[in-house]
Amino acid sequence: MTDIDPLDTALSSALAAVAGARATVRREGARASIILDVTGLEQSARDALESQVKAAAEGVSGIETVRIAQTSTRSHRLSIAVASGKGGVGKSTVSVNLAIALKTLGRRVGMVDADIYGPSQPTLLGVVGSRPIAREKLLVPVDTPFGVPLLSMGQLVEPGQAIAWRGPMAAGALGQLVDADWGQADTLVIDLPPGTGDVQLTMIQKHKPAGVVIVSTPQDLALIDARRAIDLFVKAGVPVIGLVENMAGYQCPHCGEVSDPFGRGGAESAAAALGIDFLGRIPLDIAIREASDAGTPPAAGNAPEALAFNAVAQRVLHWIGNN
Ligand code: ADP
Repeated sequence: MTDIDPLDTALSSALAAVAGARATVRREGARASIILDVTGLEQSARDALESQVKAAAEGVSGIETVRIAQTSTRSHRLSIAVASGKGGVGKSTVSVNLAIALKTLGRRVGMVDADIYGPSQPTLLGVVGSRPIAREKLLVPVDTPFGVPLLSMGQLVEPGQAIAWRGPMAAGALGQLVDADWGQADTLVIDLPPGTGDVQLTMIQKHKPAGVVIVSTPQDLALIDARRAIDLFVKAGVPVIGLVENMAGYQCPHCGEVSDPFGRGGAESAAAALGIDFLGRIPLDIAIREASDAGTPPAAGNAPEALAFNAVAQRVLHWIGNN
């Protein structure tokens, strides 16, 4: 058995104390060559860690020269933004069910709730009141019962407090949610605020998503707003994955007759006119509203309401595969 040089032991433990398993060291005489895995860290955190590691190695007596090389495993994570022209059309409902359905289809999905006006994902995912912790200056998403970890704007403020953030604050908060410790997640579903404001612009400029799903109800007024949102993303070069028509067709629970309170097919024809794909139609169904309020999104179960969401997720997955 070869004896381990006490200098190697001292060096390894000094590095482990500041960098955990991120530092791997090779020593030749008084020279230490360190490989530092900085995967998932922002530039400032990378630089800070490198300085700490350098100081720790230089502090070991017997070490005179320290060389450090940073490495990071390239992230294959892609972001899918979910947007709408206006509020109340079911963007958050579609986002959470899309995230869960994509998870069921085999993606490792994280959910980002960037809706500064009404962050509802903690309710939809049944984790109201849970708070993310920070590790190495990065937020660690909160686990949910559906295997889709969550970070929400709502977790960054006191419960019930109105979020009256100005542009730069909202932009900074978005960065914290997106550049978080997402671990193994390969797909982030990002529930954007409605409209075309600061958060959308930051998303486009700093965290460009792979594509965007637009949610609209079928009536003309909602579709006019949806067109505006589509226009913003198209001009910014963000691919539009397609349009989801929500709250289409209402089946009366008493007589069974199907009526169309918001009209029917408007989003599909709008998608055709705009030359974007139509991803599917989600019925207006009281069971969807009830399940959402209860923190049990329909896509997580086997009820008929799950089918429509699964069909949308299949099309999004197909798009991911082709892009
Ligand atoms: P947004 O994110 O666009 O503001 P939400 O997803 O919060 O909209 O939905 C607004 C309300 O409509 C919620 O109460 C939600 O449960 C309900 N809702 C959304 N989609 C449907 C649907 N297809 N059927 C029934 N209720 C729905």
